[in-house]
Amino acid sequence: MAMQRTHSVGGATGLESLEMGAARIRVDDKRIINCRADLNQLVPFKYKWAWQKYLDACANHWMPNEINMAADIALWKDPNGLTEDERMLIKRNLGFFSTADSLVANNLVLALYRHITNPECRQYLLRQAFEEALHTHAYQHVIQSLGMDEAEVFNMYREVPAVARKAAWSLPYTQSLGDPHFQTGTPETDRRLLRDLIAFYVVFEGIFFYVGFAQVLSMGRRNKMTGTSEQFQYILRDESMHLNFGIDVINQIKIENPHLWTEDFKQEAIAMIREGVDLEYQYAQDTMPRGILGMNAEMFKDYLQFIANRRCAQIGLAQQYPGAANPFPWMSEMMDLKKEKNFFETRVIEYQTGGALNWED
Ligand code: FE
Repeated sequence: MAMQRTHSVGGATGLESLEMGAARIRVDDKRIINCRADLNQLVPFKYKWAWQKYLDACANHWMPNEINMAADIALWKDPNGLTEDERMLIKRNLGFFSTADSLVANNLVLALYRHITNPECRQYLLRQAFEEALHTHAYQHVIQSLGMDEAEVFNMYREVPAVARKAAWSLPYTQSLGDPHFQTGTPETDRRLLRDLIAFYVVFEGIFFYVGFAQVLSMGRRNKMTGTSEQFQYILRDESMHLNFGIDVINQIKIENPHLWTEDFKQEAIAMIREGVDLEYQYAQDTMPRGILGMNAEMFKDYLQFIANRRCAQIGLAQQYPGAANPFPWMSEMMDLKKEKNFFETRVIEYQTGGALNWED
C-alpha cells in the first residue's frame, strides 16, 4: 500500500509535534513561505544559493576586537587630529549604526525567522543574526575604544532627527510581523512579509547603510580612523551578502507566489525605495553639511540614485533614476577585500578562517 503523504509533521515554526512514520520530505515540498513540510530537515537542499551563502559567510568570519584601534585612539584624543566636521561624521554614523544593526537583528529573530519556512534559508538567517551581533559588537568596541559618551551615542536614534528618521521609518514593517498572532497564508499577509523583506533588506541594509559606509571608508582611504574604517569594511562585506540573500529570497517568493507581485504592489515597493533614497539623502546632508573628504551631499544624491536603480533592477522593478552614475567607484572594491591588501596601513586585510580550507589540497 502506498504510503499516504501527510504534512502533519510541518507547521509554521518547526516546533510542532512529530508524527512517527510520516512521509519523508522531498525537495519539491520545500517552499520559502507557507511550507507545510518538516522544517527541521536541512537536506535535501532546494535553495542551494542559501546554503552557499551560509558557507561563504562562515568563511568570512571575523571578530571586532581583533582589529587594532591604537591609531584611531591617538587621532581621536589629539585635539588637532580631526576637524569638527570629521568628528561629527564619525559620531553620527556610530549613533546610527550602533542601534541599526540591533533593529535588523530583532527583525530577523523576532519577526522574520518564524515566517520563513525553509531550513536552508533559516540556516543563513541564524548566521546573519550572529553577524548582526558582531556588527553591534564592532560599534560598541569603537565607541568604547574612543572613550565616547556611550549614552549619547546609543540614544541618537531617539534624539538626533537624522538618525531617528531612518529607524522610525523601518519600525512599522517589523512590528506587525512580530505580533504573535500574525500568520502568513493569505495574499494580504504574504504581502506584509514581502514588505518587511523589502524594507529591511533592500531599503534598510541596501540603502540606509551606504552613506555611512562611504563616509567612514572615505576617511580610511585618507588614512584617518583606519581601525574604525577597517571595522566598517568587514561590516560592508557582510552586509552586501545580507542584501544579496534578501534579494534572492524576495525573488524566490515572487517565483513561488506570482499572484503577490501585482502592479499595485510593485508601485508600493517603488515608493518605499524612493522614500529610502530621500531619507538617506537627508541623512547625508545632516552628517555632512559642508563638503569634506572630497565628498559632498550632492554626490551622495547621485550615489543613492545609482544604488536605488540597482536595487530596483535586482528585484525586477523599473529603474527610477535614469542615468544616475556612481561618484564613488572605489566603494565596489571595498566589498571585495581580496583586492584590497594593504590598502589600509594597519595590516593585511585578507581575512579568511579555517572554515574555507579545502582538505583535498
Ligand atoms: Fe545586516
